[in-house]
Amino acid sequence: MLVYAVFGDPVKHSLSPAMQNAAFSALGLSARYLAFRVRWERLRDAILGAEAMGFGGLNLTIPLKEEALKVVVPDENAAAMGAVNTVAFGEGGRIRGYNTDGWGALRALEGAGVRVGGRRVLVIGAGGAAKAIARQLALSGAEVSIANRDPRRALDLAVAVGGRGYSLADLDRLVPEADVVVNATSVGMREDDPRLVEGSLFREGQTVFDIVYNRETELLKDAAGAGAQVLDGIPMLVWQGALSIEIWTGRKAPVDVMERAVREELRNR
Ligand code: NAP
Repeated sequence: MLVYAVFGDPVKHSLSPAMQNAAFSALGLSARYLAFRVRWERLRDAILGAEAMGFGGLNLTIPLKEEALKVVVPDENAAAMGAVNTVAFGEGGRIRGYNTDGWGALRALEGAGVRVGGRRVLVIGAGGAAKAIARQLALSGAEVSIANRDPRRALDLAVAVGGRGYSLADLDRLVPEADVVVNATSVGMREDDPRLVEGSLFREGQTVFDIVYNRETELLKDAAGAGAQVLDGIPMLVWQGALSIEIWTGRKAPVDVMERAVREELRNR
């Protein structure tokens, strides 16, 4: 039996074991996916240990995605993003790093019938997930604007992806103008989080995508109330995990099974 794992700190609430184990079962693979709390300063030991023990592959989550670049050989995409969320073990001890977050976001949007090419996309946030999403959507032909609490990070990301960078104070103007609004911050994960966007700024004909996946956020409730198309973070979670499976096994991942497993796990919490 092959062992796969997600490393993170904290990692207790990760949905990946439920999602990936459901996928392995549906594919008829003899594999088990586990979660391990790994401190960032022990990441090298943990990755080398997993390779030595013959693990099938790894996912990495907060706060390990950047640190992993010191241990693995990243592909061009992960190197450009400065973050790795998928680790694959190859012949002769080769350890490769990938980042499937941006692709996951693109597939989630496409699955909802949203094409980003030539459209105005506003990404709120400039952290790890925002970097992956802004890069992928820009590569797919979107006109990308980035607004972040720390505007310097928005400007740096805008330069990297060929977009424009702003502060959150510009949201009043940017939100109504955008065809697609992506919340790529962690705001909304907790019930008592403040509102990032005034609800009256959303409009019909717009798509609002919140990558937070642990609860229905106020942002999405407001956007739906304004008649916008809404998309939560679960399809992105599923697609980024699906691509990890395809990297590790070469098999097409059963995304419907994975999405059902994630939604059931969330209902049972
Ligand atoms: P991160 O690197 O820590 O970035 C956090 C981002 O949120 C930064 O832009 C930060 O702004 C902003 N932020 C945090 N608190 C804020 C506040 N009170 N007001 C305004 N902005 C605030 O985290 P990440 O890895 O990008 O993850 C962000 C979120 O995406 C998390 O909720 C995570 O669970 C989710 N996520 C979802 C998926 C999925 O598949 N659906 C995948 C990856 C991540 P500053 O730069 O100013 O600090």
